[in-house]
Amino acid sequence: MSRVYNFSAGPAVLPEEVLQEAADEMLDYKGCGMSVMEMSHRSKVYDDIIKEAEADLRELMNIPDNYDVLFLQGGASQQFAAIPMNLMKNKKAGYIITGQWAKKAAAEAKKYGEVVELASSADKTFTYIPDCSDLAITDDMDYVYICENNTIYGTKYKQLPNTKGVDLVADVSSCFLSEPVDVSKYALIYGGVQKNVGPAGVVVVIIRKDLVRDDVMPFTPTMLKYKTQADSASLYNTPPCYNIYICGKVFKWLKKLGGLEKMKELNEEKAKVLYDFLDQSKLFKGTVEKKDRSLMNVPFVTGDKELDAKFVEEAAKAGFVNLKGHRTVGGMRASIYNAMPKEGVEKLVEFMREFEKKNL
Ligand SMILES: *Cc1c(COP(=O)(O)O)cnc(C)c1O
Repeated sequence: MSRVYNFSAGPAVLPEEVLQEAADEMLDYKGCGMSVMEMSHRSKVYDDIIKEAEADLRELMNIPDNYDVLFLQGGASQQFAAIPMNLMKNKKAGYIITGQWAKKAAAEAKKYGEVVELASSADKTFTYIPDCSDLAITDDMDYVYICENNTIYGTKYKQLPNTKGVDLVADVSSCFLSEPVDVSKYALIYGGVQKNVGPAGVVVVIIRKDLVRDDVMPFTPTMLKYKTQADSASLYNTPPCYNIYICGKVFKWLKKLGGLEKMKELNEEKAKVLYDFLDQSKLFKGTVEKKDRSLMNVPFVTGDKELDAKFVEEAAKAGFVNLKGHRTVGGMRASIYNAMPKEGVEKLVEFMREFEKKNL
């Protein structure tokens, strides 16, 4: 068996240890004679799995008691609609547009209320995070929405916007559990897990309890109402059982590693290897303003489309796969999530150095 270095933006690399453990438990989970895939979500065994996953996540993120943790389906994109349906009481919200995902979320929210575009970095193809220190935020806004790490463009907020007391909602899909967060600064945090936490099919929503309520928009589907899900502890209907089980294993892996402080340290070391190389390279160039660089997604170009394509092809042959940039951006993108070992990035940089020698 040989495993590649997988730089995919999502679904993405998972810790090998977790995959191995899951393989060991595939046919017989802890002596119960069946796979987690085969068991009832109402069984005691499964109840322990989902409860433990929640408890571990609460511990890792230090989630205050006045927040609910929900394991839901529909991906991050489903939340683009669920958020306005549940939170838009005044039917007005502010959105900061830092890329495709924020743009999509804003477009969806417009179906349900007024969306005020507070800031945007579209003028420079989303290569930076706009200044969010003094935005035109008004009291009648139900929330301010951000996409905290922009998977496609490789930018990340290093400082949260000044929301002037208005609730903050954040899509953290591609930076989930990559560093510590102060949950109390947000009204709602959510993320599809397939970037940094687990297999596609789960979105985790962390929501302040006063926002979990009955007076949502009247047409809100039962399944999209946070109260439905919170009242039944994410077991209103059959949840994505197996995927939640894998997420739980990743939470344990993170705890064993030393938690999110330690994870951040490792992510910074790892990203530095790649960014330092890009900053001195005569062939490759990072595309993002340095101050806004993501630790997770690193886009870069040679400036020559044919050479970019040649690089992606030769890298894949050498075992560095999924380095092609998003179809809307071109160039390359290395996603170096939690589970990508530092060694993978070091070897990639070695490969890039050789490629540069031959092609400059
Ligand atoms: C991938 C991604 C999404 C979309 O996730 P789905 O689960 O496919 O809907 C949304 N936001 C961000 C930041 C992403 O990286």
